[in-house]
Parts: sequence; C-alpha cells; structure tokens
Amino acid sequence: MSENNDQKFVYDFTEGNRDLKDLLGGKGANLAEMTNLGLPVPPGFTITTEACKVYLESGSEPVELRDEVSAHLDALERKMGKKLGQADDPLLVSVRSGAKFSMPGMMDTVLNIGLSDESVVGLARQADNERFAWDSYRRLIQMFGKTVLDVDGELFEDALDEVKTAKKVASDTDLDAADLKKVVERFKEIVKAQTGRDFPQDPREQMDLAIEAVFNSWNTDRAKLYRRQERIPGDLGTAVNVCSMVFGNLGPDSGTGVAFTRDPASGHQGVYGDYLQNAQGEDVVAGIRNTVPLADLESIDKTSYDRLMHIMETLETHYKDLCDIEFTIERGQLWMLQTRVGKRTAGAAFRIATQLVDQGLIDEAEALQRVNGAQLAQLMFPKFDDDYAGGGKGAEQIGRGIAASPGAAVGKAVFDSYTAVKWSRSGEKVILIRRETNPDDLDGMIAAEGILTSRGGKTSHAAVVARGMGKTCVCGAEELEVDTKRRRMTTADGQVVEEGDVVSIDGSTGRVYLGEVPVVPSPVVEYFEGRMHAGADDADELVQAVHRIMAYADRVRRLRVRANADNAEDASRARRFGAQGIGLCRTEHMFLGERRQYVERLILADTDTEREDALKALLPLQKQDFVELFEAMDGLPVTVRLLDPPLHEFLPDITELSVRVALAESRKEPHENDLRLLQAVHRLHEQNPMLGLRGVRLGLVIPGLFTMQVRAIAEAAAQRIDAKGDPRAEIMIPLVGTVQELEIVREEAEQVIEEVRAQTGVDLKLALGTMIELPRAAVTAGQIAEAAEFFSFGTNDLTQTVWGFSRDDVEASFFTAYLEKGIFGVSPFETIDKDGVGALVRSAVEAGRATRPDIKLGVCGEHGGDPESVHFFHEVGLDYVSCSPFRIPVARLEAGRAAAESKGSDSR
Ligand code: ADP
Ligand code: MG
Ligand code: MG
Repeated sequence: MSENNDQKFVYDFTEGNRDLKDLLGGKGANLAEMTNLGLPVPPGFTITTEACKVYLESGSEPVELRDEVSAHLDALERKMGKKLGQADDPLLVSVRSGAKFSMPGMMDTVLNIGLSDESVVGLARQADNERFAWDSYRRLIQMFGKTVLDVDGELFEDALDEVKTAKKVASDTDLDAADLKKVVERFKEIVKAQTGRDFPQDPREQMDLAIEAVFNSWNTDRAKLYRRQERIPGDLGTAVNVCSMVFGNLGPDSGTGVAFTRDPASGHQGVYGDYLQNAQGEDVVAGIRNTVPLADLESIDKTSYDRLMHIMETLETHYKDLCDIEFTIERGQLWMLQTRVGKRTAGAAFRIATQLVDQGLIDEAEALQRVNGAQLAQLMFPKFDDDYAGGGKGAEQIGRGIAASPGAAVGKAVFDSYTAVKWSRSGEKVILIRRETNPDDLDGMIAAEGILTSRGGKTSHAAVVARGMGKTCVCGAEELEVDTKRRRMTTADGQVVEEGDVVSIDGSTGRVYLGEVPVVPSPVVEYFEGRMHAGADDADELVQAVHRIMAYADRVRRLRVRANADNAEDASRARRFGAQGIGLCRTEHMFLGERRQYVERLILADTDTEREDALKALLPLQKQDFVELFEAMDGLPVTVRLLDPPLHEFLPDITELSVRVALAESRKEPHENDLRLLQAVHRLHEQNPMLGLRGVRLGLVIPGLFTMQVRAIAEAAAQRIDAKGDPRAEIMIPLVGTVQELEIVREEAEQVIEEVRAQTGVDLKLALGTMIELPRAAVTAGQIAEAAEFFSFGTNDLTQTVWGFSRDDVEASFFTAYLEKGIFGVSPFETIDKDGVGALVRSAVEAGRATRPDIKLGVCGEHGGDPESVHFFHEVGLDYVSCSPFRIPVARLEAGRAAAESKGSDSR
C-alpha cells in the first residue's frame, strides 16, 4: 500500500464524509459530515487508518505522511490566522484517536497541544485570562504525560491533590493562576523524573508524538482484548483526528456537554444530556464536578441552547436516527465536537425504529435494519422489576460484571458445584459463584439458576457454557472477591456474602445484587402469548413497536418459520408465537415413562410374537399423541421424526441393574427378567453411541419399529380427517447416510400407509423425507432426493459429524481455549459454520433441487433460531427454518431482516 504513490493519508474535515468510516474512523467521518452540513465544527484534519496500518506493519510512518501533515497544518494555520504554538497567540489542537468502531482501551485524547512555557503566556494575554491559560497547560502536561509518555496518571492526581490540600480547597476550580503555575512546575518535574527528559516544548514535536502514540494504542492489551470479544478484526487500524481547540474553560459563559437527540432508554424525543459550566471536555465524563441537566442550559445561555436544539434536529433528520453528540461553548459560541449514531437499549431500538417511520424519516425495510433478533431475544427474558432495580427495599447492588448470558436469576449463593447440586436436589434455587468455572463445574452449572464469576470475559468457560445452556450468567465481576475455600465473597466495600445468602444476578446488564430482586414477566412475551394486545389502550409503547416491526418482518420474509415441538402444549405455544408448522417433532419421549416397559419387552423379545405384542401395545399410545399434535397444528405441516436415539437410553442404568441382579442373587430371589435386561444392556453398550445403532439404522434392524410409528401417524391422520380436521403430516427419517437406507424404509412405509388407506377408506396424503445430518448424506443429496420429498438439515448432528466432535464432550472442555485462540469466532453450535457445515448445506440444496425441483427444504437444528444463521439459510434458499418455540419471534424477525436486506442489495 505504501508503494501506492497516489494514496492520500490526510483528509481535511471538508474533504471527508460519513461513508468513509473505514478510512477516517467513525469520529473523523462524522466530523467531516458535520462540517459539510455547515455545522460549527472547529477546523481540522484526519490521518487515515491506512497510515496507521502502514505504521503497524512496517514499524514506521509512511514517508509521505510528514509532508502531508505539514501541508494540512499549514492550511489550518492560515485558516485560523495563527501558528501552532505561536508564542504571542498560539493555535492549539487536540489529537484524538478514532477507529471505525468505537473502542474502549484506545488512547485517550490529548487536548491543548501547542502549549509551552512560552506560548502559555501568549494564550493568557490573548484570552485575558491567566488562570485559564495555566489550567490548559497543566491539563496538557497531565494528558500528554499519561497517554503519550506513559507516566502513571496517579502521580499527577496526587500532585494536584497536594496543592489543593495545601490551599484547603476541594475543587480544582478553586485554584487560581498562581496555584496552577505551581501545579505546572510539579507536573514538569514528574515528567522529568519519570521519563528522564523534559516535557517537549516544540509544538510540532508534541503533535507528532501524540499521533504516533495514537497509532500505538491500537495494540494495547485492553484494545486487543476488546476487539477479540467484540469480533472486531485486528487489522483495521485507527485514524487520528487533529482538531483546533475550542475552550469551555474560559469562564462561566463557557462550558461543555454531551447530549442525545432522544432518550436512549425509551426513545422519546426530548432534551437528554449533561452540561458543565467552565470546563473542558473530559471533565463531563470524568465526573469531577457535578453536571447540570442539559435543560438548564436554556436559562444559562438561551442563544446557544436554541442553536443546539436546532442542530440536534438537523442531525436527526440527516442521520435519520438517534445521535449522540459532544459540544463546547466558548464565550457564548457553540461548537460541535463529535456526533455518532447513538447506542440504545433493546427496547428503545424498537420504539425509535417505529417513531422514525411515523416521522417519515425511514421506511419499513429500513426500520427492520434498525433492530435485531438479539435485541428481541433480550426483551423476551423475564427481567428484574425496573422500579425496583434502583435499590432500596432489602436488595442492594453489590457489583457489576459482564452481561454474558441474559436473564434474571435469584438464588442462594453457593461456591462449589457439589453444594449447588445437593441444594438444588432438595428444591433450593442456587446461584453458583466461582472465580472462574472449568469443566468440573458442569453439574453445578446445570443445577444452578445462574452463574456468577469474578474473572473472565465473554468467551470464558462460564460465559460459553451458560449461553449454550441458555442460563443466566454474569462473569468477570472483578470487584467481588470470591473465596471458594471459605465459601464466601467480599464486595468492594468489605461486605461479606456467605453461602446461603440470597443473591440476584442480571445477565442482561451484568448487575449483581445482595437480596432478592423481584422478577417480572416480559411484556413482549405476554404479547406473543396473546395475553396482551397491541391494540389495547393500555398496551405499552414497546409492545406496540414490537407488534409493528413483527408485522413488517412477516410481510417481507420469504423463509417460513416452524417450531421444534414434541407435544400439543409446545405446539400450541409455538402457534401463538407465529409458527407456521412443526419442523421437528421428536418421538423419543413417546417411549419414556410408563411406556418404558414396552420398549424393554421389545428389546428383550425372543420371538416375533413377543415383539409384535410389544409394538401393538405402543401403537394406540403413539397414535393418541399424534392425534393431539395434529389437532393443535390443524392445517399446518407437522414433520414427525421416527425414533432416533440409541436404544440403551430406554433401558435401566447399567450399575443400578447390576446391583439389583447381585442383590437378588444373594437373596436367592427370582431375577430372570433383570438378568436378561442386564445382558441386553451389555449387548447394546456402545463406545460412541452418537455414531452407533441409532436413527434409520434402528428402523432397519428392529423389524416393525418404524412401521408401527408410521401406522400410528397414518391412523392418527385418518382419524383427524374423519373428524373434519386438516392434518398435514410429514414423516421424517433420521440419520440417513445413503439413498438405499431411505428406499427400504420408504417402501415399507408406503405399504403401511396403503393398508391404513384401505382400512379407513380415507384418502391419506403423507409426505416422506429425510434429515440431512451426515456428511455422506449431504454429499450424495442428489441421489437421496430421488427417495425424499423433503430434506431437513439437522445442523446439530451435521456440525458434530463434520467437525468430528461431540457437543456434550467438547463444549465444556476445550471450546474456551479455541475461542481464546481465535480458532472460532463463535461456537459452531451457536452460529452455523458457513465455510464448513454451511458449504455442505449449500451444495446439498443445489443437488436436491437438481434432482427434484419441488423438494421442500428446511433446517431443524438449533441454528434455526440463531440470527446470523437465519440470514445464511435465507441466502442459500431454504424454504423454512425450525427452532424452539421461544425462538420463533427471533427467527421471524431475522428472516424479515434478511429478505429486506437482500432486496435492498438487489436494487442497488
Ligand atoms: P473520546 O473518544 O474519549 O470521546 P474525544 O476525542 O471525543 O475522545 O475527546 C475527549 C474530550 O475532549 C471530549 O469531551 C471532546 O469533546 C473534547 N475535545 C476533543 N477535541 C476538542 C477540541 N478540539 N476542543 C475542545 N474540546 C475537545
Ligand atoms: Mg468523544
Ligand atoms: Mg440428529
């Protein structure tokens, strides 16, 4: 890149625009955009991320950079009518970092560059304010010392405190020019002592060092960690903004503030922000002095206030979104220092999107891009009572960590897995608290309501496993000291939480409370459940907004959304949540409980008659299950998967059985049946059950098993038709690897269906298809489609078999290491691995359609409810996704977003 002579490394604010975020960073692109809108932005220029990349790759700045910076500085000096650091009237600048994505851990901005022992006097005279000049100088040495020269910031803080204490004042505004001169002397001594050199007096050297420090700050540990957690690529680099200074610390007619164009919590339009008189930018966030609400600015400086309101409206209309801004008032003159599309809560995202539609600023397709499934999912978790979470009434916030897995959990504190399991067995709700978790904690994590750790980030073991289990988790709450040996935790202010004390953790905010915070159901779920109507007078704004956005999504989406549901109850909920059918009904639960005895008999059968008797006993029970299910989903497709898991899952536990047999033997009691069972358990024992006798293989080696299931489905369908119902059953064969397997099952099934047709006189239409969940099936999908009317991609098993690992074994053991090493960005069980598993799906779709153009294609792995995966399934052209009932709204929304997005890009 550096070879490219045409490349331009510096852009004046007048040259850029907001679409150049890759090159100018977010801050630089938006400063340029505001400049071009004619808003009052102090002039300046931006050094591109490309320059940073060259620096990071080669270890030195591109050779052209120095001259380009000189040229732009020249132009700036001419515009401002003064030179950087000029002795009698200095131009001062800020040097500000600004990557494409805002990123904590990047270098802090350095203000007041250009001040020196000489120019501070000139500035004092120009401003007619000695105090202001020395205050600015001490800020420069402090910020420059800390961020550019790497001096411990506390040394400066301490020195400042000493001067304040000596003068017996609390606030730095109480220091006068003479005091601040003293502070500057102390600060310069600190720099000298710590770095072995004097604070640089040459303004250009100050600027160049600050620019280089910004480049270097891209690779601080904190910045790297943040990027890894947020999946921001490590090679983007940061831009550097050089911006002429404006001063909020010139007296009471000056000040600085931050504002939102609407409330980031509710979305309401209004005046939201903070203002601080007589202060420079960083004072507002640092919380040194108390700010006043922005509304108060109206009485402090009406002209600036009105101007600001007008600008905020301009920005909203221009960006067509909520913006947050930084501004400064210098002696009654308003300056804009930053804007960006502001972060907002999940609830506000939905409300703002619909508000903007109502204001005519955006259309429905754009509204869909303003929200996402993760936000919707967040709104569907039960949550702590907002009115309560502020504190008081018995529960108090004792810490805050990373919001690793959403939800609101309350329980008794336990500090080890054993106690978690023991207590939860006796009916207690527990929160498992550990410094960090490891695979040994798995049982405890399963038993707990929620998990709290004091170490680790979003990819820590606790976070990964909790998300996989859908369990609430707060991790890395560092101010909490966890002592597992003494079974207690100590808060920052010394409060002790003992085993058994009730704690509440909020996985959506990371907040940790001592005591019980009441949990309220999500209004959004109440709405999906049909217990709250969007049209009702008292429906809250959020519910109305969600209702409208869901309607947009449903209108545009091409993917249909089905549910994974095994019983009538789940099916009905799924239907309320908008499911358009069942994509996966597992039949294994139909073999459990009381029915286990028939399965045992089936497995132990020595003769055909014994086996047939067992199957005969199961038939009416299964049939009744299906009748209920078809009734709940009347008129919608229901895909029933024939028995899939290995048979030993239906037999007693091997140890239990061995003990029973041994006991009976010693007592000389009859134990013929148990002995036979034990032999069967031994016979059926497998090293790798996941890869053993299961799925279609069961159907092929156990005569009558699949045909019994098919008969139950067919008879149930016939019965529903007789009852004037509209059953749409689809029979699905699991774990097929080759078309021959499917052909055999198919022939038998067709024969059974024909028999039921003849017996009942009902004209049955049952579709027959298969899961695609083995690599061989995906690779030979063209052949398999000859015998299958539909494919349903079982992406859980397909992920396991493509990667060659079993989820239960590996997720808790080495996924954390893989995530930390960056081998996965995200677990392939959470989001489909597009390059591997996804590529097989894509080619199987093509091959399947080539053989049978009208083949129906869906997915029933958990990926069906994952936002990113839904976009992928839309793109490869599936007909539907199927997911757990609770994820259905998320899938509907994301399917709509995917469709709106691809329409947008088609027309471009
Ligand atoms: P951050 O990304 O941490 O917000 P900024 O570059 O925006 O860093 O700057 C930190 C503070 O300094 C902000 O309050 C900003 O408004 C203020 N600031 C930055 N540049 C200038 C300037 N040229 N004049 C006055 N204040 C400035
Ligand atoms: Mg800022
Ligand atoms: Mg499977």
